[in-house]
Amino acid sequence: MTTSTAQRPASTDAPDDVSVRVRGLTKDFPLGGLFSRRSMRAVDNVDFDIPRGTIVALVGESGSGKSTVARAIARLERPTSGSITVGGQDVLKTEKSAASRRYRGTVQMVFQDPFGSLNPAHRVEHFLERPLRIHGKARTRAEVRSRSAELMRTVGLTEDMLDSYPHELSGGQRQRVSIARALAVDPEIILADEPTSMLDVSVRIGILNLMARLRDERGISMLFITHDLASARYVADTTLVMFAGALVEGGESLELMKNPSHPYTRLLLSAVPDPARTLSYDPVERARLRQAVLAPTTCPWQGADCSTTSPVRHTVGPDHWVRCHLYAPKVSAATNPLLTDSDSDLDSVLDTAPGTAPAPTRKADR
Ligand code: ADP
Ligand code: MG
Repeated sequence: MTTSTAQRPASTDAPDDVSVRVRGLTKDFPLGGLFSRRSMRAVDNVDFDIPRGTIVALVGESGSGKSTVARAIARLERPTSGSITVGGQDVLKTEKSAASRRYRGTVQMVFQDPFGSLNPAHRVEHFLERPLRIHGKARTRAEVRSRSAELMRTVGLTEDMLDSYPHELSGGQRQRVSIARALAVDPEIILADEPTSMLDVSVRIGILNLMARLRDERGISMLFITHDLASARYVADTTLVMFAGALVEGGESLELMKNPSHPYTRLLLSAVPDPARTLSYDPVERARLRQAVLAPTTCPWQGADCSTTSPVRHTVGPDHWVRCHLYAPKVSAATNPLLTDSDSDLDSVLDTAPGTAPAPTRKADR
């Protein structure tokens, strides 16, 4: 088997073609009362890059730590340890208040709930006027109006909607206003935290297309947080899978979806409707599978338990890595029950003990 260990780059200095570099990002939240010393690790030693002008999707279930990663990059949350490099600078080392406005001009966030983030008392133009004025993008009344109208057109809305109140717009239109507001400062990076999760499927695709257009036409780099792998596959160049605070798999989106390697990624993918996949699970069955995948004692690889030995990254394909003991070089292809052609056949994976798996048919040499 040609699986090899992918070394984490030691350097935190990001080259020019990297917009955001995250290394060793860890966040502990205190548990219990004021004097309690207990804490829970929400984000655990996370490493990734957002290459310039690309969309990186961060996928995982609720509570896996996705928002905490975005909030740390946005400097809304102070990490316990790690480094975040944006524009060649370790942003955690720069003084927060002094750098704040400049940072907001580079990194913008778009949130899940476009209604909650737009004050219902104001007309749409107000949400665009504020950032335009604060960041010196428009000074006079006429400049504000024409810049705002341009932003509206960029996100697929019309100038007359500047005079509407948020409640007069649909959910998709409100999310477009949130994106226009983020664009008002001309950011290089947008952190979009579940921007499509509250939208109907038919509206979702329009927002995903808008995100792709902003990447392609303006070179904006994006972190796209979602629990929906289908959306990640549709729009993201790279997909990272987060489980219980850690990144367990990452790669070029289509390659990762074609060859999901971590048991958890396979579990997530089993819920994505895909005509090419024959298997799908009902909620009860998924719950059973979830338990099986997540309990170390039922993991098909009994030789190394993730709860006692943290797995390192192993390369499983071009631009594709996984953190799972099953892909360690010492595990031969013949004994890895995950290396079969029936990628989504979790049942057989979980029911198969190492050593009894069918011979792998997947190409290991690529
Ligand atoms: P996700 O966005 O993937 O749903 P989050 O990053 O919001 O996950 O949360 C990860 C974990 O950290 C959860 O268990 C959540 O309860 C916890 N958490 C998030 N923010 C806080 C906070 N401010 N204080 C305490 N715990 C938090
Ligand atoms: Mg979240």
